[in-house]
Amino acid sequence: MKPEVREKVEAFLKEKGLRVTRPREMIIETIFESEDHFSAEELQDKVRAVDAGASRATVYRTLSILVESGLLREIDLGLGVTYYDPNFIDHPNHNHLICVDCHRVVEFEDAHMAVLEDCITRRLGFSTASTSIRIEANCEELKQKGVCRKGHR
Ligand SMILES: [Zn+2]
Ligand SMILES: [Zn+2]
Repeated sequence: MKPEVREKVEAFLKEKGLRVTRPREMIIETIFESEDHFSAEELQDKVRAVDAGASRATVYRTLSILVESGLLREIDLGLGVTYYDPNFIDHPNHNHLICVDCHRVVEFEDAHMAVLEDCITRRLGFSTASTSIRIEANCEELKQKGVCRKGHR
């Protein structure tokens, strides 16, 4: 976990009057050691692999603290489950492209999109509060073969 992430998390916990307990710290480490998007269930499994005694309540509580702090964001990948995204700290304006079959997720950022969003929002008389763009697409393999190897698990 990057020192600046640790600092931000600890500052937020302190502000809220919450202690950095060992289980909580381990959960936070597990979240930010990888750039993968994950569901609460997937996190639970990862955490349990490190500490079999980690409680589900602590995992969920820590998730909601991090979301509230803005360090972790909930994203909708269109899969019917809430996913969590640890990558907004480094890439606050990224968006997602997802394969409709194998569900491979690719993050992308493009300055043109920010300009376009700004134009659209202004034209409609609004100002942007937050943006989330999801492109549902066919990956290379799906385009060529009509099916992805990793799909249909
Ligand atoms: Zn992401
Ligand atoms: Zn695919």
